[in-house]
Amino acid sequence: MEQKENRKKEIIHFFGQLPVESLYTAGIAGERFLLGLKEGKFLANYCPDCDFVFLPPKLYCEFCFRELKEEDLKEIENKGILLSYTFTHIDTNGNRLENPIIVGVIKMNGTDTGFVHKLLNKIEDIEIGMEVEAVFAPKERRRGSINDIVGFQRID
Ligand SMILES: [Zn+2]
Repeated sequence: MEQKENRKKEIIHFFGQLPVESLYTAGIAGERFLLGLKEGKFLANYCPDCDFVFLPPKLYCEFCFRELKEEDLKEIENKGILLSYTFTHIDTNGNRLENPIIVGVIKMNGTDTGFVHKLLNKIEDIEIGMEVEAVFAPKERRRGSINDIVGFQRID
């Protein structure tokens, strides 16, 4: 019977830099949604087979896999209800923040999904179930990005 040779090999390593870049696309439905935001609009889509409205819109219904087409897109009003929220006092670099970043899950009126974004109110003014609306960046600063929405604020 042969035995495996137990050889110790020295690991060779090199230091350097790899020129790696990544380009992500939002996809067909995602791009329509982001271009809508650039215009200050929320575009959702509807699956008639499931009676379900998606925000952001989907290319296919995730329940019945029906293709959702351009004509299934519809603009919804800029108003919703806060379903849940959380906050953090630590930024992405581990630094303590004076004011917390608050993130909410919002069910926009006429949709069946939760939309996640920042909340702009002070933490003591936030209640689950409150009505909110999106605050858009000034039109000249919008780029077709999720950041075209500055955040959501309470409607009183
Ligand atoms: Zn469906």
